Amino acid sequence: MQQTIQTIRRELNGLYTSSEITVLTRLILEEVCSTSFAGIATDKINHLSGFQTRKMEDILSRLKRGEPHQYVMGRAAFYGMEFRVTSDVLIPRPETEELVEWILSENTAEKPVILDMGTGSGCIAVTLAKNIPFANVWAWDISENALQIAAENAERNSVTVHFFRQDILQPLTPGMTYDILVSNPPYVMESETGDMERNVLDFEPREALFVPDDNPLLFYERITDAALMMLNDGGRLYFEINRSKGPEIVEMLEDRGFVEIKLRKDVSGNDRMIRAEKPRVHEEDQ
Ligand code: GLN
Repeated sequence: MQQTIQTIRRELNGLYTSSEITVLTRLILEEVCSTSFAGIATDKINHLSGFQTRKMEDILSRLKRGEPHQYVMGRAAFYGMEFRVTSDVLIPRPETEELVEWILSENTAEKPVILDMGTGSGCIAVTLAKNIPFANVWAWDISENALQIAAENAERNSVTVHFFRQDILQPLTPGMTYDILVSNPPYVMESETGDMERNVLDFEPREALFVPDDNPLLFYERITDAALMMLNDGGRLYFEINRSKGPEIVEMLEDRGFVEIKLRKDVSGNDRMIRAEKPRVHEEDQ
């Protein structure tokens, strides 16, 4: 096995840092041998079959082209859980874990009805379903392929989420109402393309990332309007946002009558998420 490890290190040298290579080596061996790294050590696997060698070569060539390891291995970690990912969905980001953490810390009542708009891999919906007792979780996406992955992720993590295909930009018909509405919609402006990593641009779904420069709040405005219709009084809306748009989104939420608006930074110190509440209607106002 030492020789195989050396081959992997040599192939990836220069493309990744030494500590990244250590992590990748472990992931590659686990994938190729279909067992945990501990298993590889205890089983004393010291020889790869022809099939395993070809699988390893395929993985290495994809990694060398810059494809994110999550797509190559088909899995990504999120909030201590494992999610299947393909190039149909964004790779779950640590910022989104922070958003989930915020939602969990503020919503301790049992049985909330939750909707995740633009669920992608399902990471937000599935994690909320897993961590809030008796939550009734719904999730929408425009992409049929994404919904299929998200449904697999609900099953893999043993939770029930109700998935629906829905384009948020199309007219919505009033139906259910929710206690929590959450979305991490596309928010990268086309003019920001130059600041992005090649492995994001070349491999992740553009449909999940980009908004036109002349309408960067497109999804936020639509979702906020939908939230006025679909949230219960006192229900909460949570967004992940573009770090340059915090004050504008806060203002938009204020204009539409939301209260308890809070803008929060991620661990990197960037404005990254917003929470707002739909006001409770007082008797005297009715
Ligand atoms: N945070 C992601 C990125 O930087 C973007 C996610 C999104 O557009 N919703 O690539």
